[in-house]
Amino acid sequence: MGLFSGKQETKPEFAPGETLTRRVLALLDDGAKGEEEVTASALASELALPVGDVEAELKTLVRFGNLVRRTGKNGEAHYSATPRRKLLGDLLVESGHLSPEHLKEALDEQARTGERLGVTLVDRGYVTKQIIGKMLEMQRGIPYVNLSAYPIDEILVRSLPERVIMEHKIVPLARSGDEIHLAMLDPSDIMAVDTVGRFLHGKVRPFLTTESDFSWVVNKYFGVGRKVDESLTEAGPGRAQPEAGAAGSAVGVIEAFDDSPVVRVLNTIVQDAVRIGATDIHVEPESDETPVRFRIDGLLVDKTVLPRQMADGIASRLKVLAGMDIAERIRPQDGRVLFSIEGREYDLRIATLGTAFGERVAIRLLNNRQVQVGLERLGLSVAQQTTLERLMRRQHGMVLVTGPTGSGKTTTLYASLSFINERVRNIMTIEDPVEYRLPGITQIPVREKSGITFGIGLRAILRHDPDVIMVGEIRDAETASIAIHAALTGHLVLTTLHTNNATGAMIRLVDMGIEPYLLTSSVLAVVGQRLVRVLCKACRGQRPAGAADLDLLRLPPGTDLMLPMAAGCPECGTLGYKGRTGVFEILTMDDAVREQVLQRKPATAILDAARAAGMKTLREALAEKVQEGVTTIEEFQRLTSAEAA
Ligand SMILES: [Zn+2]
Repeated sequence: MGLFSGKQETKPEFAPGETLTRRVLALLDDGAKGEEEVTASALASELALPVGDVEAELKTLVRFGNLVRRTGKNGEAHYSATPRRKLLGDLLVESGHLSPEHLKEALDEQARTGERLGVTLVDRGYVTKQIIGKMLEMQRGIPYVNLSAYPIDEILVRSLPERVIMEHKIVPLARSGDEIHLAMLDPSDIMAVDTVGRFLHGKVRPFLTTESDFSWVVNKYFGVGRKVDESLTEAGPGRAQPEAGAAGSAVGVIEAFDDSPVVRVLNTIVQDAVRIGATDIHVEPESDETPVRFRIDGLLVDKTVLPRQMADGIASRLKVLAGMDIAERIRPQDGRVLFSIEGREYDLRIATLGTAFGERVAIRLLNNRQVQVGLERLGLSVAQQTTLERLMRRQHGMVLVTGPTGSGKTTTLYASLSFINERVRNIMTIEDPVEYRLPGITQIPVREKSGITFGIGLRAILRHDPDVIMVGEIRDAETASIAIHAALTGHLVLTTLHTNNATGAMIRLVDMGIEPYLLTSSVLAVVGQRLVRVLCKACRGQRPAGAADLDLLRLPPGTDLMLPMAAGCPECGTLGYKGRTGVFEILTMDDAVREQVLQRKPATAILDAARAAGMKTLREALAEKVQEGVTTIEEFQRLTSAEAA
């Protein structure tokens, strides 16, 4: 006891958290008088600290792989330092002081006797007391990190020159405030601490790792990783294509000729975004560092933090590639960069903007959306899919898809067009921008600067004898009116409208000045939709539904139901979710609905009529996804509360 409080006084430079880590580990490493397991409360009283603090620390150490947690008979958690005792053995073997056979023998004996490993090894004469002492000293107070189970920040790894990593056998793990968490084989390597601190601009906090863990990282990031870098090189210059979309922006191609950290980090960021299916990358300078966030499945996720100079370098490099003015750091600019990875071409839209702390960069990955899907993969119920297929076979009329930005409307339209894509029908689209190329279909991008708006493009399309027309979005009364007219004169028109739900679309179009009788005679159906995050299959858990859950799902109290739960694992980047699926409502224009619209009744009246005719609402469809185990009650709440707001 006195020993530890003494330690604290002589080392006042430690952050409070680190002191606690060291004190907890020191107690556990010293075997706590041969006890195999401790509880948070016992440890807290020994350390004279609040139980909550000690418990939080123990949980962290479990996460890193230092301790094992087991629930005791009375439900209290028991912690055991077994992995750390084994770590001592690993360190001795790796440093050549002990043979693997001797370690195995000693571990077997330890399991029988319950004696500490160090004592067992010395008793058997395998290792001297001095060597054990040295190893324990190295291990003491420094948490071990199990690299293969830890979600490594690849961008941070790439920020360090490879030679520094290989020479010192270190792996940067994460940045936490101004601290760099660094996995090291030898935490006493002052040179490594110093070098990494300078490269990554932070204070190094050491974590212990083993030779085998380090080799795993080298294989993962520097063996296979090399190949990925080369695939970017192959895109090479000269593959630049004439720019098709945004007028006035040049096209560049990412290549990786020089091996500067800026190039490597930028490539890693883009590859990472492609690999995990992010749609946007945000580089946002702050006063002394620059966080990078990815938009994954519709929500922003913190990805990494770059030093300021690195972020400035990335902004400059992107501007060069996209043919933007590199000297201009204040006024907003936009541009475009193409690159190919694993045979697929990616289209990056770059936008920069000067902020109080430097240039903010937004990168949109246009082809990184899974648009090439059939109707069966959208997330429709069987009945809804049948309805939509029936609608797509119609010769004329309008089908609207509604929902907020990022609710998957475009994907639904593309899937519908793919369903009806046959040579006997002329299919034409006007889109802003063209997000995905559909073979056999004429796609026209909106070009505001050249005067091609939705309205003008749509008029032009009508002179080209179309059968099916897709209008990316109805934004104004003019487009609405031309589209309705087209639907009334023998064309099947598919379009989107930015409203919250299907009934809202009727009201919105009337507000735009469309006569109700034109609506009821042209609109076939309105699809309302949202995207919901899908639970990661590798780590999802379950819990019994409580009274509040049943109430939300509108189920009778006492219903026996297990609810799926998000956890988090390396597979899903610790998010607990992987991918998204659509949730739908389809309002079809039947007599009851037609009557309400003609009489200019409010949305609630239209909704009542549609529900009476059997329409399943978005909320009901969402509740079904929760009960089917596709997503969580938290996602249900997130989406339904956004609705109410
Ligand atoms: Zn997972």
